[in-house]
Amino acid sequence: MRRWNGWGDDTIQYPLSPRALAFLREAVGESEPPRDVSLATVLATIPRSPLPDLPGNGLIQVDERDRLKHARGQSLPDWVALRSGRIAAFPDGVAYPLSTGDVAKLLDYAARVDARVIPYGGGTSVVGHINPEPGDRPVLTINMRRMNQLTRLDSISQLATFGAGVAGPELEAQLRARGFTLGHYPQSFEFSTLGGWVVTRSSGQQSLGYGRIENLFAGGTLLAPAGEMRLPPFPASAAGPDLRQLVLGSEGRLGILTEATVRVSPLPEHEEFHAIFFPDFINGTTAVRRIVQARLPLSLLRLSTPVETRTTLALAGHERLIGLLEAMLGVRGVGDGKCMLLCGFTGQSKTVRDTRQATLEIAREHGGVSVGRRFGEQWIEGRFRTPYLRNTLWELGYAVDTLETATTWEGVPRMVETIEEALHSALPEGERVHVFTHLSHVYPQGASVYTTYLFRLANDPDETLRRWELLKGNTSRAIVAAGGTISHQHGVGRDHAPYLHAEKSAIGLAALRSAIAEFDPDGRMNPGVLLGCRAEGDLQS
Ligand SMILES: Cc1cc2nc3c(=O)[nH]c(=O)nc-3n(C[C@H](O)[C@H](O)[C@H](O)COP(=O)(O)OP(=O)(O)OC[C@H]3O[C@@H](n4cnc5c(N)ncnc54)[C@H](O)[C@@H]3O)c2cc1C
Repeated sequence: MRRWNGWGDDTIQYPLSPRALAFLREAVGESEPPRDVSLATVLATIPRSPLPDLPGNGLIQVDERDRLKHARGQSLPDWVALRSGRIAAFPDGVAYPLSTGDVAKLLDYAARVDARVIPYGGGTSVVGHINPEPGDRPVLTINMRRMNQLTRLDSISQLATFGAGVAGPELEAQLRARGFTLGHYPQSFEFSTLGGWVVTRSSGQQSLGYGRIENLFAGGTLLAPAGEMRLPPFPASAAGPDLRQLVLGSEGRLGILTEATVRVSPLPEHEEFHAIFFPDFINGTTAVRRIVQARLPLSLLRLSTPVETRTTLALAGHERLIGLLEAMLGVRGVGDGKCMLLCGFTGQSKTVRDTRQATLEIAREHGGVSVGRRFGEQWIEGRFRTPYLRNTLWELGYAVDTLETATTWEGVPRMVETIEEALHSALPEGERVHVFTHLSHVYPQGASVYTTYLFRLANDPDETLRRWELLKGNTSRAIVAAGGTISHQHGVGRDHAPYLHAEKSAIGLAALRSAIAEFDPDGRMNPGVLLGCRAEGDLQS
């Protein structure tokens, strides 16, 4: 069963080795397990729902467990709220439609009872996308997970249409059975959904080969309070602005994406993942930039800084193997400053062979030492398991969060420094923060910078939240000041809304607000998300 106050399936654990625990304690200090509240305690705090069910339909659940499970996503403030039981608001009802017709009925119902509506995919948002806000109007959350079927596969044109609530594993299983793949693997793959990916502009780990979701989204149906918009899957069109771009990143504000058509690829003939170690981050970054600018057809390039490389190796266990690896790298001139690059090669066997050779040649010119497939394959096998570590760390008294942006190649080294410095200096004297970074997605013009930070939980949840606010606020301001986007892949939600004006300009935000009002004249759809209350009330601020 899915955890109600943490990540993932509650039968899956991610234990830490004694060496990994010692590494953590050394990095941020000893911590104490928090006193989390029980499920029963939280359930007892949920007020009675004012919502009547749809007469004779049974689409809406008002059960406390359902309402609790849809109250929060996966951001750090969400975890603090769930684990402490301090949850400001719950949805008053949760609906599970089976069809676009059901969604239409639910939107009519919401209009009748003047409810706010929160579209819900997998609830994996890390920026406050799906949290109801306290207020007088009731809140109806519409969980799309039962709309999860492949409804059409055009194998000639390589287009597949799904119910938008399909989660990663269900989507890939249905495609793979027919010889195709979407190749979209965000780390939240296990639970996040196609609709969620589209409206948050998500990026999968192999986006270098398959493209980000905006490259994969070909069309679909959006049901808005003011009407239905169909987006045909044209391969290209010069008929005015592309309205698919309006839906991408709309974060539930325009309406509900009920079905989506995606561009799929035949299953690759061959796939392999390699690790290469560089003597330092500058050499690694230069090699990665050259590889991506040479337009070599890789599916993944992921470069860790020295601290992230050290952290990954320390948390991996396998002490003896890592000792041997470090000794071998040392002999080849790759010592303490080493940076790990993961490379994915996907496609026809010959293309894979040629691409690997060309990649290794460039890497060698920058002191890169290939260690073959073992580390790369291990990373791929464990890539959806890593988020489970967050549960283990919390229970030991540590909070983990991530930050991400993108900037041009010229700005990458300074952006890494700026983010890490902002995190290191955010907390008062005495509280240490362990910070590490990788370039997670690379483009010919630049890269996304993805930073993980770890700090101690306080005894008081409000103090933990205050620490997070200092860290997140300090760093978000620094990212914007350094010219980075406020989000490369997690979206805006509530947490990034105050920073949106820096990259959209006042007139851009006003245009967005007008478009939203056209689709949703009564302000019913997910208010507070994307433009935020502050941005909506004061676009200049
Ligand atoms: C451990 C972890 C790892 C992550 N890794 C990545 C990653 O590698 N790459 C990445 O891009 N993101 C990542 N994320 C963030 C998150 O998974 C993405 O933002 C994802 O796209 C959200 O999808 P979801 O289905 O869970 O949407 P939800 O969280 O349920 O909703 C997100 C937003 O989409 C709206 N929405 C959802 N479905 C619909 C619909 N059908 N119609 C209209 N609006 C809808 C909601 O109203 C909300 O505003 C990660 C999150 C976690 C917790």
